[in-house]
Amino acid sequence: MSGGNIFIISAPSGSGKSTLTNEVRRVVPNLEFSISYTTRPPRGSEQSGREYFFVSREEFERMLAEDEFLEYAEVFGHYYGTAKRFLREATARGHDLLLDIDVQGAAQVKQKVPAAVSVFILPPSREELERRLRRRAEADDDLQRKLLGDGARPFNTEDIIQRRLQTATREIENFSRYDYILVNDRLEQSIDVLKSIVEAERLKRSATAVTAKDEAMLAIAHGALRTQMLDQVQAILATFDLSRLPIVTE
Ligand code: ADP
Ligand code: 5GP
Repeated sequence: MSGGNIFIISAPSGSGKSTLTNEVRRVVPNLEFSISYTTRPPRGSEQSGREYFFVSREEFERMLAEDEFLEYAEVFGHYYGTAKRFLREATARGHDLLLDIDVQGAAQVKQKVPAAVSVFILPPSREELERRLRRRAEADDDLQRKLLGDGARPFNTEDIIQRRLQTATREIENFSRYDYILVNDRLEQSIDVLKSIVEAERLKRSATAVTAKDEAMLAIAHGALRTQMLDQVQAILATFDLSRLPIVTE
């Protein structure tokens, strides 16, 4: 049976990863999404069992002690982890698994499963990332007010936005550990690139012959390989003041 491939997606918070992965899950068959466990509180309209399983620190630590995680990390002061059972269950169904995890988690999975395919999503620039973080913060606060009335304490403070921008800069420094780089500029185009990466990797790992109809998809995926994206990445790094970062070309 085919399946059992792991696709890791990492991105600085606010670059559009959830939007993008939700779309790709809708259009790519046999691709399951691992719902992570987290100790952070739900945001906006998030529901336990849909975006995350929201659990207490005690529950998370119990799962850790029982070795239930494929990987875990502490991000923004909260635990986040991928339960091993998601990979077990997807593999048993002959499906692939998509992991939306941070750079620390991605490194752990790559170490345990070297064949995992990793994709790093970049925003077009620091300015655009800040705009998206603010837009999302406003939308979440509006919803919070609707639910709790005008006395609701805004969930997204300026502090959180600034902290996420600083963390973004640190995370982006790790882009060269990833196989593919996807610049999330126009959403439709980004969906097409992510879908092509999944299909190209599946084709590579199957015994199926390449047909003329695969050529366009393979070309799109090839164009997103990190080694093909270095000039574009340099331009984006410059907006984060990271232009002097050593670039790995291999
Ligand atoms: P992440 O999951 O990376 O934290 P989200 O998917 O929540 O980010 O997106 C952050 C904000 O940016 C949301 O308001 C979303 O609608 C918006 N967004 C996502 N992708 C794009 C895009 N390609 N162009 C413009 N806005 C986008
Ligand atoms: P958010 O709180 O914005 O949903 O996610 C914050 C960060 O945690 C993101 O970078 C996201 O990819 C990461 N994350 C979510 N789930 C997991 C997980 O299970 N493991 C790890 N290592 N990171 C995760």
